[in-house]
Amino acid sequence: MTETISHDVLIVGSGIAGLRAAIEVTRTSEGKLSVGVLSKVHAMRSHSVCAQGGTAAVLHADRGDSAEAHIFDTIKGSDYLADQDAVERLVSIAPQEIYQLEHWGMPWSRESDGRVAQRAFGGHSYPRATFAGDRVGFYEMQTLYDTCLRSPNIEFYHEWYVTGLVSDREGFRGATAIEIGSGNFHAFKAKAGILATGGAGRLYAFATYSHSSTPDGLAMAYRDGVPLKDMEFVQFHPTGLVPSGVLITEGARGDGVILVNKDGERFMKKYAPQKLELGPRDIVARAIATEIREGRGFRDESGMEYVQLDLRHIGAEKIKERLSDIREVCMKLRGIDPIEEPIPVRYVCHFTMGGIHANIDGATPVKGLWSAGESACISVNGANRLGTNSTATCLVWGGITGRAAAEYAMQHTPSSFPQQSVMLEEKRIYDGIFRGEGKENPYEIKHELQKTMDEYANVFRTGQGLGEALKKVRALKQRAYKHVEDKVREFNINFVNVLELESMLDIAEVVLTGAYARTESRGAHFRSDFPKRDDDHWLKHTLAHKTTDGPQLDYSQVTITRYQPQERTY
Ligand SMILES: Cc1cc2nc3c(=O)[nH]c(=O)nc-3n(C[C@H](O)[C@H](O)[C@H](O)COP(=O)(O)OP(=O)(O)OC[C@H]3O[C@@H](n4cnc5c(N)ncnc54)[C@H](O)[C@@H]3O)c2cc1C
Repeated sequence: MTETISHDVLIVGSGIAGLRAAIEVTRTSEGKLSVGVLSKVHAMRSHSVCAQGGTAAVLHADRGDSAEAHIFDTIKGSDYLADQDAVERLVSIAPQEIYQLEHWGMPWSRESDGRVAQRAFGGHSYPRATFAGDRVGFYEMQTLYDTCLRSPNIEFYHEWYVTGLVSDREGFRGATAIEIGSGNFHAFKAKAGILATGGAGRLYAFATYSHSSTPDGLAMAYRDGVPLKDMEFVQFHPTGLVPSGVLITEGARGDGVILVNKDGERFMKKYAPQKLELGPRDIVARAIATEIREGRGFRDESGMEYVQLDLRHIGAEKIKERLSDIREVCMKLRGIDPIEEPIPVRYVCHFTMGGIHANIDGATPVKGLWSAGESACISVNGANRLGTNSTATCLVWGGITGRAAAEYAMQHTPSSFPQQSVMLEEKRIYDGIFRGEGKENPYEIKHELQKTMDEYANVFRTGQGLGEALKKVRALKQRAYKHVEDKVREFNINFVNVLELESMLDIAEVVLTGAYARTESRGAHFRSDFPKRDDDHWLKHTLAHKTTDGPQLDYSQVTITRYQPQERTY
């Protein structure tokens, strides 16, 4: 008999969004609601600890920044696909979150007069990235985790893999999960739920993401009938270290760093004459890809082509003070000291703008279920996110969804729990996947999937390539890979990898289907065969619904409150 564990509110994911939500449930209910936070890795190993450069917020209006400027920069950066009411909400709440974190103990970097310091970031018209050296994610996570630990009503389930949602006609009821350490399968019963499972970036091999960033949460919601929104928009960061893909923060460019090609040319002059290296990511990444395509890149001994990021002129002192992790990464992984040598970089998968369809309150179409952070598409980022807006979004919607879920849980007590759904999920997991008969090595399938995404769904895309990729992914889905070689119960990472692969195949199909259908170029989605933005036909969000024949697409309106689409130049 499957053991059932009960909480008032269940949060899947313990990154910045999940932890912020847990604190808000506690605060709203004055500690009366019990909160279960599940994470497939230890909370402090959630991907959010990797965030480097900063969190966007308007703090210094007295020096010229303004909410209006942050709103406009984000909408323009999104290539006009962001919902403008959501952007307004982000910008109005983000400053409170910065000061709230400060009160919880966040060690923000400071100016000499004691003010919280801010640095420049791509696509922002004012230096509004609040930072803590180049470890903003680590310190935010540490601050939030420590705050959670003060609340006896928050219980952490570290290293528990959630396999699916449990819902019925009335809405969300709970989830099912495997305790990785023991291998035991459990049901979780709750009055309200929040999915904060992060992005889908490990669909790609060359990515800045943690290896745990697979689209499990997206796939769970999709299987449960929640549409996925705007999944074709995948962000490629301009500066991944070659050949590992480890991120070199845009904060470095904010500190005055330049990009050069093999002819020694500062090539961003051609692509973003005013903003140069501080153009938005889609434009800088495409510029690097163009330089490489046209033969002006360097070639690494790994075979990868790259351009150089030159920090030298900003000086040893500033590099040691503000970019110490970057320096360490370059020295350890590449054997170069950026104080003395330029860094080899190229574009790399970094963020998923799309995600679980949620409204401005983070509510999904399933009653009692919210989503926050990178797993949610609310939509603030539209077709291209501005750097530092993600951690801000995680904090803001962590708070909003935590409050909403708490209020809901205080007013609703579900009449029943659908045990039948739990039994069906157990069967799907153990009979379908764990005891699957397939002969093929799942790691090879995963490798082929990532290779396909790297090749066809990258910075430049074509209808032909995307069609080819779709065929390949569908063929991979047909191959009998459901093969868990290792049959032990405890810490069966082979099993976890196969479960993740299930989600990856489903979600790759959604990304490709949306990208194939969208015959225009907008933000990070650039179709070489349709190189122009087409507002007449495509100023709309894509919604992908799961059917037995694969994703079925329909579209919804973009909310425009104040800025009509304009030509986007930098
Ligand atoms: C290298 C790097 C640097 C970045 N720097 C910045 C920056 O400076 N500023 C900025 O704004 N943004 C930055 N970003 C983006 C930002 O870090 C992320 O968008 C953000 O941290 C995502 O947080 P999250 O809370 O949504 O999810 P995550 O931190 O990704 O956490 C996801 C959680 O879900 C859990 N989970 C997933 N699936 C399951 C499952 N099946 N069962 C149980 N648990 C599950 C995981 O264990 C984890 O706890 C950066 C991204 C990268 C890759």
